[in-house]
Amino acid sequence: MEKIRMDVPLVEMDGDEMTRILWKMIKDELLTPFIDLNTEYYDLGLKHRDETDDQVTIDSAEAIKKYGVGVKCATITPNAARVEEYNLKKMWKSPNGTIRAILDGTVFRAPIIVKGIDPYVPHWKKPITIARHAYGDIYKASEMKIDGKGKAELVFTDENGKEERVLIHEFKGPGIIQGIHNLDDSIAGFARSCFNFAIDMKQDLWFAAKDTISKKYDHNFKDIFAEIYEKEYKSRFEELGITYFYTLIDDVVARVIKSEGGFIWACKNYDGDVMSDLLATAFGSLGMMTSVLVSPDGKYEYEAAHGTVQRHYYKYLKGEQTSTNSVATIFAWTGALKKRGELDGNKALVGFAEKLEKATVSTIESGTMTGDLALITKLENVKKAESLEFIQAIRKNLEAIL
Ligand code: NAP
Ligand code: MG
Repeated sequence: MEKIRMDVPLVEMDGDEMTRILWKMIKDELLTPFIDLNTEYYDLGLKHRDETDDQVTIDSAEAIKKYGVGVKCATITPNAARVEEYNLKKMWKSPNGTIRAILDGTVFRAPIIVKGIDPYVPHWKKPITIARHAYGDIYKASEMKIDGKGKAELVFTDENGKEERVLIHEFKGPGIIQGIHNLDDSIAGFARSCFNFAIDMKQDLWFAAKDTISKKYDHNFKDIFAEIYEKEYKSRFEELGITYFYTLIDDVVARVIKSEGGFIWACKNYDGDVMSDLLATAFGSLGMMTSVLVSPDGKYEYEAAHGTVQRHYYKYLKGEQTSTNSVATIFAWTGALKKRGELDGNKALVGFAEKLEKATVSTIESGTMTGDLALITKLENVKKAESLEFIQAIRKNLEAIL
C-alpha cells in the first residue's frame, strides 16, 4: 500500500512518562506504517523543557499559530516533588497554561462513546462536549475577611481619577467579601471559539449563566454571546440547521440529564471546572476523554484529557506489564490528522483518521480492551490487553478496514 502523503506539517508535542511510551507505540504501530507522517517535532518532555528554560513550550505554541494544528502528549506540571525528581532549574509552569495563554483558546472536552462502556445516565447516546471559559471570575478573585462593623463598597477609579461606587454591604459584625472581574475581550473570544466549534461539529450550542440573579455580571456574558451570535454566526447556524440557545445554569443541568447528548455545553469558568469532572466521571473513564484547545481565530491543539499516568510508568520502569488506555491519545492524533486533512483538502488523510477511529472503537466493542475499561464494561468474555497488545489489536483491525 502506498503511504498517505501530508503537504503541511502537523505540530507534534511529545510529553512525559507513560503517555510518552504510548505516544511512540501509537506512531510506530498505527501511524508511520500508513502515513508519510509530516510533523514539526517539539519535545515537551520535562527534561527538555528544563534544558531549554521552557522555551520549547513557547516555540511549540508559536508553531501552532503558524501551521494551525497541533497534537500534544500529556506532560508533567512540576510540583516540589518533581523539581527534586528531575533536578529542575525551577518549577516550570504548566505547559497547557502556557500554550493556552499564547493561543488565547478555549478547551473543549468530549468523551469517546463505545458500546459496552455505558454512561451512568443510560439515555446519553451521544457525547456531550463541555467548553470552559478559562479566564477570570473566582480564579482571579481578591478576597477580604471582615472582622467587625463597617461599610464595604466596590470602587472603580477611571484613568482620569473619577470614582464610581456601589455599596456591597453595611457590616454589623464579622463577615467576608470577594471581588471578581472579567473582560469583554476574553468573553468575546470564548464566545467565538464556542460558535466556531459548534459549526465545526455541526452540533447545537448551549450556554448558561445566572443572569436573573447577577443582573450585570452574568448578564454581560449573556449579552456578549447574543450580540456576536446575531452579527457573526446566526446565518451559518441556520444554514447548518443547528441552534444556539441561552438558559439559566440550574435549568441547563436539568436539561443535560434529560437529554440524549450530542451538543456543546459552554460554561463560565467555575461551572466548567465542576461540570467537566462530573461529565468525565458520568461517561465512564478518563482514558476515554479527549480535549481540544480552539483559539478564537481557529487554531487547534488536540490532546487526551488525562495526565501522564505516573503510577503505570513506574511499573513500566520496573519491567512490569501495564494496561494503560491509549484511546484518548489515539483520538488526539485522529482529531489533529482530520483537521489537517480538512484544512489542506487532503481527503485520504481524513479518511485514514476516520478508519483508525473505527478500528479503535471496534477493537473495544469486540471485547479487547485495557484494564480500566475491563473493570466497568457490560460486555462478557472480555480480554484485558497489555498496553502494546491493545494497540497491536487495533492495528490488526485497521489493516482489515484499509
Ligand atoms: P493521571 O495521569 O490522569 O492519572 C490518574 C489515574 O487515573 C491513574 O493513576 C489511573 O488510575 C487513571 N488513568 C488516567 N489515565 C489513564 C489511562 N489512559 N489509562 C488507564 N488509567 C488511567 O493523573 P495524575 O496521576 O494525577 O497526574 C500525573 C501527571 O500528569 C502529573 O504530573 C500531572 O501534572 C500531569 N497531568 C497532565 C495533564 C496534561 O498534560 N493535560 C493533565 C492532568 C495531569 P490507576 O492508577 O487506578 O490505574
Ligand atoms: Mg477541576
